[in-house]
Amino acid sequence: MKELSKRTAGFTDSVIRRMTRISNKYGAVNLSQGFPDFDPPKEILSRLAEVTKEDFHQYSITWGAQNFREALAAKQSHFMGRKIDPDSEIVVTCGSTEAMMAAMMSVTNPGDKVIVFSPFYENYGADTILSGAEPIYVPLIPPEFSFDTDALEAAFRQNPKAIILCNPSNPCGKVFTYDELKIIADLAEKYDTFVITDEVYEHIVYEPFKHVYFAGLPNMWERTISCSSLSKTYSVTGWRLGYVIAPPVIIDTVKKVHDFLTVGAAAPLQEAAVTGLNFGDDYYANLQKKYSEKRKLFLDGLDTLDIPHTVPQGAYYILLDISEFGYDSDLEFCEVLARDVGVGAVPGSSFFKEPENRYVRVHFAKKNETLNEALNRLADMRKKIAVKK
Ligand code: GLN
Repeated sequence: MKELSKRTAGFTDSVIRRMTRISNKYGAVNLSQGFPDFDPPKEILSRLAEVTKEDFHQYSITWGAQNFREALAAKQSHFMGRKIDPDSEIVVTCGSTEAMMAAMMSVTNPGDKVIVFSPFYENYGADTILSGAEPIYVPLIPPEFSFDTDALEAAFRQNPKAIILCNPSNPCGKVFTYDELKIIADLAEKYDTFVITDEVYEHIVYEPFKHVYFAGLPNMWERTISCSSLSKTYSVTGWRLGYVIAPPVIIDTVKKVHDFLTVGAAAPLQEAAVTGLNFGDDYYANLQKKYSEKRKLFLDGLDTLDIPHTVPQGAYYILLDISEFGYDSDLEFCEVLARDVGVGAVPGSSFFKEPENRYVRVHFAKKNETLNEALNRLADMRKKIAVKK
């Protein structure tokens, strides 16, 4: 048999999603893949029940149902502080995963370079390979996860086509400040580079930090492809509703890519989700409050157990420092953690370009009882995991 594509030989399956399977295998409390174990808002679910009896079972318009795009445009115009046109500036995708891939395929040619901050959400590596682009990694340096402006400019000097910006950032929880974004914006302008954002945690940001939409920076609208989704904001990760927002000339191309990749996102789910898009500001304030409480519960628990950890400014991920256990392989550590302690985590190495094995990533998008159960189990971690000599 002839060999399969070289393109796909360059990466493995997702370690994040693999860890969910490993957690399930051992009956571990799964804090690996980031998704909630609590319900979406009941208004959305009630609407979903009605929708099953209405006429939403065939394809919607390929770039998104009209009323979904209109509701999304109204919501994003409100938060992004600019009028978004529902017809020419939005494509609705199957999750932000497709949004990012469609953005990459719309912008890059094989061989083009793309700047990626490290640590990074693992899809970006696969996205660049699948679109034939070549990543240039720029470190976000722990513990603050700040970048060195000279290192970033050195990357821009390599004539990249785009930079990928995950803000708030998965896995390190960084929320880029206005000043940091302005440095990126100035470089993007100076070196004529597109900016592809992943802003799926736009509504999960902790006081006193604030989310700044990159597309809203001076002169950045024209070169920014904003990707996000409803997954985290409305606790519907399985619905796969994402979107791209960009100027019409870019959106025309994204529409074509999306049309042939997936045709469209699920029509009944788009219709039901309109209910969520129409929520008032109090919904987003409550979401932020709920996650702030969960963050406090989990961080306090980790402090009590004296487990060293990062403190996220946004999103819902924490990196635990496991260097005291002396493991060379954080993947092996995560397997032992799931099997012997009963907590699922993601090896930090799957997010870093640098040879890094001292972190594992956990998340706190879980019911308080789930988080307390995970903390109870972590209390035995030092008894159950032997230190490697
Ligand atoms: N973004 C989530 C994570 O980092 C999950 C994404 C996914 O599996 N599609 O865990």
